Amino acid sequence: MKAEVVSGWPKNNSIRISLSETDASQVNAIRRALISDVPKLAINRVNFSQGVVETNGEILESVNVLPDEVLAHRLAMIPIPTFPEEKLAFFETCSICIDLVESEKGCPTCQVLYSLNIQGPAADAEEEHITVYAGDLTTISDPMFDVREEHRKIPLTILSKGQYLELYAFATLGRGSSHQKWSPAAGIGFTVRRVAKLNNAKKADTLFALNLKTSDGRDIDAKLFGKDKKIDDINTVLDLERALHQVGPGTGRDADFANAITMEDMEGSYILSYDTDGSMSPETAFNLAMEELSDRFINLNGEIKTALK
Ligand SMILES: [Zn+2]
Repeated sequence: MKAEVVSGWPKNNSIRISLSETDASQVNAIRRALISDVPKLAINRVNFSQGVVETNGEILESVNVLPDEVLAHRLAMIPIPTFPEEKLAFFETCSICIDLVESEKGCPTCQVLYSLNIQGPAADAEEEHITVYAGDLTTISDPMFDVREEHRKIPLTILSKGQYLELYAFATLGRGSSHQKWSPAAGIGFTVRRVAKLNNAKKADTLFALNLKTSDGRDIDAKLFGKDKKIDDINTVLDLERALHQVGPGTGRDADFANAITMEDMEGSYILSYDTDGSMSPETAFNLAMEELSDRFINLNGEIKTALK
């Protein structure tokens, strides 16, 4: 199998990858690995402070509109920056704390620690409540794990006058197969790579007359097709495929269009596209998915050998 990032990608956390010399089941295995096998960090345990405190003559109570369980779930879904090169250990199998009792487990090699301490508006303040955001989490571990700028405005809860929220949150490595919070990618799909062929320029005018544009702003017209009346540029073909829905069945234009442009499958070539949640770059997620798959297949070979003896 050969893999190559399509030109112009990634865009932020989105990517298109061209895969060749492969088949649909292999591409689907990568899709599944991205969803459920690529390890990433997510908050897995939260310790809430509970009680009543007095600061500056004000009585504050550890309550807010959301139950702790809901808040813990919201914290879990915040994308936590994940760096595979840091080689963090999985919490359950960490060699340093494997022999400790459950309550004492957790060390700098298997978890990342955050704290949050926020109070509602002062008694004489104009506003009635304040919003607590993901960005209010303070990293106690290395600052590299600070919640990223793009995620800092994720709202968690609100606090009214006389309320406070204090907690410690522990992020650990996990896989999407155990919980969605550990799944780094979303919107994963793949399609056969196609080449567009212009069969009849005159009838294709049914489409060209609609003045549609490609996603990079070029007119969808006969000029897009070169001298050989073909398009094989991946982004342009995908734009054209979308545009063809305007002249497809049910549009009332399909009879005039009469398959003036057709798509031909390129055998063994696929386009894989997805977004990551921002916890890691889409390239990192892909490389990790490939690592997971090759590890699994090595194990599988071993198992088959054992079984056949
Ligand atoms: Zn540990």
